[in-house]
Amino acid sequence: MGTFEKIVRFSKPSGVMFEHKKSFFEDNDAALEAEKKVAELYVQQPARESCKNCAQKLGASAFVKLGVPYTICTRCGQVNGLHEDTTAFCQAIYTHDGGESYGATYSADDAAAYAKRVADIYLPKAAFVKDVLVARGHDPATLRYADIGAGAGYFAAGLVDAELPHVTAYEVSPTLVALSQAMRPDVDMRLMGLDDVVQLAESVDADVVSLVGVLEHVQHPRDVVAALRANPRVQYLFLLVPVFSPSVFIELAFPHVVSRLLAVEHTHLYTESSLVYLAKEFGMRSVGEWWFGADMIDLYRSLTITIEQEPANREAGALLAQMFVPMIDGLQGVIDTNKQCSEVHLLLEFDRT
Ligand SMILES: [Zn+2]
Repeated sequence: MGTFEKIVRFSKPSGVMFEHKKSFFEDNDAALEAEKKVAELYVQQPARESCKNCAQKLGASAFVKLGVPYTICTRCGQVNGLHEDTTAFCQAIYTHDGGESYGATYSADDAAAYAKRVADIYLPKAAFVKDVLVARGHDPATLRYADIGAGAGYFAAGLVDAELPHVTAYEVSPTLVALSQAMRPDVDMRLMGLDDVVQLAESVDADVVSLVGVLEHVQHPRDVVAALRANPRVQYLFLLVPVFSPSVFIELAFPHVVSRLLAVEHTHLYTESSLVYLAKEFGMRSVGEWWFGADMIDLYRSLTITIEQEPANREAGALLAQMFVPMIDGLQGVIDTNKQCSEVHLLLEFDRT
């Protein structure tokens, strides 16, 4: 195994991401109000003393966004909000199912949108995992997969569609479990409690555990990774995490545009160095990485929304689109290959020798 070189991929065409991010353009003001409310709740929580990624004591604020102070960990490089994501905070933002959508009926349009999202966004992620596992000498179809914090089941459906049949998904929101079960009855989706994550990580019967957009949301990410490390059944951990990137500064510079990356539900952000630290501490090595972000879509969105807020410049957005949109993938490609993009996918292998 010493000769194995990890698979590193960069970028993805932004065309399909654009279509799926439309609501960011259309619903800015309402989403911004909601974001401000979460920020108000967050700053009422007690101070965060130690890094979410490495437990190092945190220093003074480096910048402030929507009234929330953030700092960079001096040991691992993780960006940390300087308040705790307490149980009350997590319950307020993750399990308030809102009532109306729970047990809802879904239209044919909903089903088409769901299927398109799986095919455009999640099947490529599943195919990446599959490619790396093949390069590691596995027959991926024989392995067991557990997707924890599965949301509406998109990634689990992507795994199934990549012809990986042994998939179990776990999610805390009853609304999202119901959505998944309605859309994809072929996916084994189960409801879990907010407090069950660590215990599940410790005991789950799976070769590959995925946390897709989850580690930044769980209350004790170190405990979750330690539990996976302690579970001898688990060989691989697949992560998608948000990364400290130019989008953070784009968001800082455009306070009237709703955030996507350092949104307040993300009370901390990873960096290349903090991920290296995490892998090393918990005895994992990276065998596959896929770096691509949406920084340039964020810049384009921020420019468009801000320009069009001035009634005399309503038409300028179209001129900007004509000039900027054809360059988005090229500009983003530079950010991706520098590993400074807003997201990364990582397949980590536990070293149990
Ligand atoms: Zn740290």
